[in-house]
Amino acid sequence: MSKLVIVGTVAFDAIETPFGKTDKILGGAATFIGLSASQFDVDSAIVSVVGGDFPQEYLDLLSSKNIDISGIEIIKEGKTFFWSGKYHNDMNTRDTLATELNTLADFKPVVPENYRDAEVVMLGNLHPMVQSSVLDQMTTKPKLVILDTMNFWMNSALDDLHQVIKRIDVITINDEEARQLTGEYSLVVAARKIHEMGPKYVVIKKGEHGALLFHNENVFYAPALPLEEVFDPTGAGDTFAGGFAGYIAKTNDTSFENMKNAVIYGSTLASFCVEKFGTQRMKNLTRDEVYKRLLQFKKLTQFEIVLNDNL
Ligand code: AMP
Repeated sequence: MSKLVIVGTVAFDAIETPFGKTDKILGGAATFIGLSASQFDVDSAIVSVVGGDFPQEYLDLLSSKNIDISGIEIIKEGKTFFWSGKYHNDMNTRDTLATELNTLADFKPVVPENYRDAEVVMLGNLHPMVQSSVLDQMTTKPKLVILDTMNFWMNSALDDLHQVIKRIDVITINDEEARQLTGEYSLVVAARKIHEMGPKYVVIKKGEHGALLFHNENVFYAPALPLEEVFDPTGAGDTFAGGFAGYIAKTNDTSFENMKNAVIYGSTLASFCVEKFGTQRMKNLTRDEVYKRLLQFKKLTQFEIVLNDNL
């Protein structure tokens, strides 16, 4: 089993979907990634920052999932990062209503000593300079570095983003963001252009339409599980990334074939995340539920076909 370092936001979110509205609840990219990766019993640590307003109960939840939280700095006199978003009726698109960086504005991440040799590093959605600084602290070169980002950082720190993208192995990004980053509409062309920026593997998340994994000329596609109820898509992308990273850390195998499985695990875990508001579903998710859904996934995507020339 490998060690997994996760950097990203640990946050308060306020969410509005066609089904309801929440006050400030637990959110943040690193929170979703950590909860998702915890399904694999990996030795993981979150590196982040929160303010004195962050409830101990939320930190205890992360610890209870065996996530090392010694890298979460608490700035007593500061406020926790806050994000608020409102989903459109299709639930695939949303408007950001507020992004308050608060303690995140001056965040200098410190990777705990005993995680500086981690094999897998998951750079969750954060300022690209912060993502770079985590890589600078690693004492041995990680076997796999995965990066997630979003339009917010493309709009505000594009040059820094290009610098960190050069240093990573896998990027996970949604379709709209892949188009914004490359100026290409075709996702195949966009993936090729992102390859040229550095990452050998490009994962493009397409919300309820699944995810694509590109590696040079190889492409793999995993659909999203068709669900009866989608309540709140917040964190689905991070949950996907956490499942992907957790599976790689658990198996310690970074081949393209194994990454296909990582994409399936990522999609499966994300399918739970959207069923309830915020982290509610991921908090109590059991291995048995995951196993059953993986079987459903297999059934959905598997088919036998006899191919010959004279059909
Ligand atoms: P996702 O739905 O996977 O894109 O992730 C949503 C999570 O990302 C929320 O829990 C937010 O707290 C967090 N988030 C939103 N905007 C940002 C940002 N600019 N930087 C880092 N994290 C963010």
